[in-house]
Amino acid sequence: MDKIKMTTPLVEMDGDEMTRILWQWIKDILICPYVDLKTEYYDLGLKKREETKDQITVDSANATLKYGVAVKCATITPNAARVEEYGLSEMWKSPNGTIRAILDGTVFRTPILVKGITPYIPTWTKPITIARHAYGDVYKNTEMQVKGGGKAELVWTDKDGKETRQLIHEFTDDGIIQGMHNRDSSIAGFAKSCFNYALDRKQDLWFATKDTISKQYDHRFKDIFSEIYENEYKEKFAEAGIEYFYTLIDDAVARVIRSSGGYIWACKNYDGDVMSDMVSTAYGSLAMMTSVLVSPTGVYEYEAAHGTVQRHYYKHLKGEETSTNSVATIFAWSGALRKRGELDGIPALCGFADKLEAATIQTIEDGIMTGDLYLLSSLENKQKVNSRTFLEEIGKRLSAKLQ
Ligand code: NAP
Ligand code: MG
Repeated sequence: MDKIKMTTPLVEMDGDEMTRILWQWIKDILICPYVDLKTEYYDLGLKKREETKDQITVDSANATLKYGVAVKCATITPNAARVEEYGLSEMWKSPNGTIRAILDGTVFRTPILVKGITPYIPTWTKPITIARHAYGDVYKNTEMQVKGGGKAELVWTDKDGKETRQLIHEFTDDGIIQGMHNRDSSIAGFAKSCFNYALDRKQDLWFATKDTISKQYDHRFKDIFSEIYENEYKEKFAEAGIEYFYTLIDDAVARVIRSSGGYIWACKNYDGDVMSDMVSTAYGSLAMMTSVLVSPTGVYEYEAAHGTVQRHYYKHLKGEETSTNSVATIFAWSGALRKRGELDGIPALCGFADKLEAATIQTIEDGIMTGDLYLLSSLENKQKVNSRTFLEEIGKRLSAKLQ
């Protein structure tokens, strides 16, 4: 069989620990035998980030802007322990944070559903994708405790030095105050990423805030979404047969619980933080969750939602057997290859991505799975296998599908 040819390189961002091991095995066992893989390789492993003073991360994000599609392995975000472990000259920032800032993107997370693992909410038969705005609000706030009574005010000083004041509260005793912000441009970027992603996936888009209470702040989010939708996306949504739906956040929560899934739920920063943990837990596991960063201009970076699985890596280093779930990393590769295939007009590459995902799901539904899923699955014939055997079992099924 001839290998599938690629025309544009995929930006490949390698990473750390157990996921770095899985990364190589996925390429060796599942991709390179079938695809003439063309990538521009960036090693975001912590050692290389230290060597390049983290320039490699910036370069990889710029390459993503240039080529349009990247696939990223999980990476260590350094803390004090890692500074010691790797002898770092600086506590480098989270690569995901750096890349997100350069691409100005929104992260979309979607559970991967398989037979035998029932969501805690059994009516959720289709995946719910959470899109979280990753800028501002309470994550960039200023807050203080105030003592003994006094007056709290919002003061806005414009470019000419003119002040506008609004009373927050006249305190007669101790209390707390908080100031936060967002930028119209960031909200607009978030909205465009969501509308583009909904069109890409051909799924409805839901958005909710508390605009009845927050008549300026949350209302601004509602208005920006609505303006962009009316001016740029309404016709495209009609053509795609999908809808944009706005409601209050409390109404949204009630509807989500009653729904059967199958839509994208755009959340403000805090709502997205909370709801993504609820949704991923309800569907089963972070290792069964895809994650893609989409820029407002339509650049895509695919990754796994989980970390580098450090505990398994140290077992692996000691020569012990591991049973680490590679599904999210495989789906990062299939997502990126499919997107490359779509952009470059290579149907064979899209077909390969579909078959790789189907073979992965079939393996689990045949009862062959890693330890984390073994604990969750209700299949009677379930069998726990090690990290590499799991990939080889997927490889057998993939090869059969590609005959
Ligand atoms: P983690 O790597 O997600 O793992 C936490 C635990 O969850 C594991 O010990 C394991 O539980 C389970 N787990 C996660 N993924 C799994 C998988 N694919 N298969 C099987 N079990 C899985 O989080 P962490 O240990 O807190 O963080 C490790 C490193 O990852 C940190 O340095 C952190 O900075 C980094 N991180 C990176 C990203 C990213 O690049 N996107 C995201 C989060 C964290 P058991 O040990 O019980 O088996
Ligand atoms: Mg959180």
